[in-house]
Amino acid sequence: MAHLSSATDPDYFEPELYNAAELDFFLKHLGQSPEVAAYTGLPAGVTRAAVDDVIGRVYRFQELKKAHGDAVQWPGVDAVKSSIVEDMNWRKQCASVVAKGGPKHPSIFHWNTSGEGIRGATGSDGGTVRTRILPGGARKRLGIRLTSEDPNINLDTAYVADFAQVADGPDRLIHDETKRRYECPICAYTTTYKADNRRSANMARANMGHHLKSPKNDERTRHQRLWNSEYSSTRTIAVTELASD
Ligand SMILES: [Zn+2]
Repeated sequence: MAHLSSATDPDYFEPELYNAAELDFFLKHLGQSPEVAAYTGLPAGVTRAAVDDVIGRVYRFQELKKAHGDAVQWPGVDAVKSSIVEDMNWRKQCASVVAKGGPKHPSIFHWNTSGEGIRGATGSDGGTVRTRILPGGARKRLGIRLTSEDPNINLDTAYVADFAQVADGPDRLIHDETKRRYECPICAYTTTYKADNRRSANMARANMGHHLKSPKNDERTRHQRLWNSEYSSTRTIAVTELASD
C-alpha cells in the first residue's frame, strides 16, 4: 500500500502527513540514501514507505544537484529540516492547547480579529492541518516546496489532502486562571474577570453561558452540547478554584 503522501504533489513536503517517530527519523537521516538510513532497521512507527518517500526524495534532489548544479531547483536539506522542526514545535503548541481543553487542531479554525474562531472558514485549514498560527494570528504554511530554491514559493497551490479526518474529543470550557478568563473552545470567544473578585468571576462564567446558549456563528449544536456539559449540572469549578487562590 502506498504511503499517504503519495497522494500529494511530489513537489512538496508536508510534515503533517507523518507521525512523530517518522519526523524524528527524517531529522536524523535526511541526506542519506533510504538504503543507508534503513539499513540497521527502522524504529517503531516508521514505515519504509515514508522513508523512501521523504529520505529518498531528498536524496535524489541532492544527487541531481551535485550532478547538474544550477539546472536543478531545490532548497536544500536544511530547508526540509527547518520545516520538520517548525512542525514539531507547532505540534507541541497544539498539545498545550488540548491540555487546556481547547481543540486538537487549532489551525483548522479561522481565528478572526475579534478572537472568534470559525471552523472550516475561508483561510482556515479545512479538514487538514497545513498551517500553524503565528502569535499575531497570521498563518504560515507548514509544508515547503522542494522544486524551487525558495521553499516558500507558491505554497498555496500545494495539494491538500482531503482524506484526513479531524477527530476532536468532546469540547471543554477553557478556564485560564492566569489570564483570568473563560474561553469557548469552539470559537475562542472569551470573557474575563477581575483578580480576587468572585462576583466578577461569576459574571464572566455566566456571560460565557449566554454565549454558549446563543453563539454568533454556525456552531449552535456544538455550543449547546458544551453548555449542557458545563452549565446544566451544579458545577462551580471556577468559584471554588478562585476561593482557594
Ligand atoms: Zn463559542
